[in-house]
Parts: sequence; C-alpha cells; structure tokens
Amino acid sequence: MKSILENRPGLAKEVNKVAEVAGYLWQKGWAERNGGNITVNITEFVDEEIRQLAPISEVKSIGTTLPHLKGCYFYCKGTNKRMRDLARWPMENGSVIRILDDCASYVIIADQPVAPTSELPSHLSVHNNLIAKGSPYKASVHTHPIELIAMTHCKAFLGKDVASNLLWSMIPETKAFCPLGLGIIPYELPSSVKLAEATIKELEEYDVVMWEKHGVFAIDCDAMQAFDQIDVLNKSALIYIAAKNMASNPTECLRNR
Ligand SMILES: [Zn+2]
Repeated sequence: MKSILENRPGLAKEVNKVAEVAGYLWQKGWAERNGGNITVNITEFVDEEIRQLAPISEVKSIGTTLPHLKGCYFYCKGTNKRMRDLARWPMENGSVIRILDDCASYVIIADQPVAPTSELPSHLSVHNNLIAKGSPYKASVHTHPIELIAMTHCKAFLGKDVASNLLWSMIPETKAFCPLGLGIIPYELPSSVKLAEATIKELEEYDVVMWEKHGVFAIDCDAMQAFDQIDVLNKSALIYIAAKNMASNPTECLRNR
C-alpha cells in the first residue's frame, strides 16, 4: 500500500522530524518501553486527496469536544508503541487521524490502523487551545528526562520558578533558548482530566511543563524545537549535578562570586 508520505515532501519532513526526535529520546534514556508520546498538527500539509481518503478505522470518540479542531489532521504516536521503533518506522508506530465535524470524534486515515496514544485527549486539548490562541505551535512532546524528573523529587525545587532560576543560572544558553523556564505541576495521576487541565493552564505561561515525579510536556512549532527546549533544560540539570559533584553548592558559588 502506498504511504501517505509518498510524493508529499512537506508532510514527510514533519513526520521524519518526529522519527528523529523519537530516536534521540530513546538514546537519552528518556523513553523506556513505550514511554512518552508525540502529536503534531499536520493540517497545513493536507491536500484534497488526503481529505478524500476513506477511513481505515471505526469512528472513535475523543472523550471531549474540541471546537477548534474541526477539519484538523494529526500525526500521533501509537499507543503501546516504542519510541525506538518509531524512530525507524514512523508510519508503523504512529498514524494520521482526521478530526470529524462533531469535533468530538476521529478516524484513522493512514497508513495503518495504529491506535493513537492513550494521552490523545490531553494532547488534542492542548492543540485545541493553541489554535484558539492563534499560536504557531504545532507539536507536543511528552517524555521522561531523567535529571529533570529527579529534580522534582526534591521539594525545594517545586516552588514557582525555583527550578527555572537554577537551570538558567547554569549556562547562559538556557535563558536564551528557554526564556519561559520550566513550569511545575504537582503530582496527578497520568492520563487524568485533572492533569490535562493543569497542563493546559500551565502552558499559558510556559513552553515546557514538568509533571512532578513523572516527566515533561513541551510544545513548540515542530517536534524538533519542542525536543530542543527539553534538551537544553535537562543539560542545565546535568551541569548542576556535575558542579555539585565537584564541590560545594553551585548556587552558593554563584552568589559568592
Ligand atoms: Zn509519561
């Protein structure tokens, strides 16, 4: 069967970015087993032929109504699929979905009937909000960056912008490339409505938010840029650990300079 990516270089490029990012997440140890999920709004690459494609799944309910997603299309990582597999075979470990006109249900249209991530309702709620705001952001990435998660096991870092200020102070690029810092969301059960609502609220102020003792949720123009923000923040956390291992308290050193 012909892939939806064939002869569509724009769409193929976006999906390939997801595959490249998925490989990085695995290499960094941030994507154990089927951990993490990525969704990208690909509506701008959809042509008339794609709009006419017959569904390859039954109609599935999103579980909520998202009025700004009418006529939208998304590439979504598949549920129970591994990032390391998606890196090599993005259309076997993810699929393209069409949001139906009721804005409350969807169908899979390509390439295979791979069911989207179980976090689809929260990802789509975030995309709905981004469109409502006129945001240029098209991608959302959830992953488990080791050192940033470890920080949330320390109560001292959970206060508003405590972690942001610490991470910014480690290397100047962090402030330059993640000017909004890291939002913190107190622990909630994965996939819960409460977590989705808290995430949408926190993303009003931040591009990257941390789910306490779980992982980050980042948004940006594409999957690569969302990954970059997480990578830059986690690099700062690594520098903090390295500095602490060398001697004293790194933030004390900064204050006494
Ligand atoms: Zn997770």
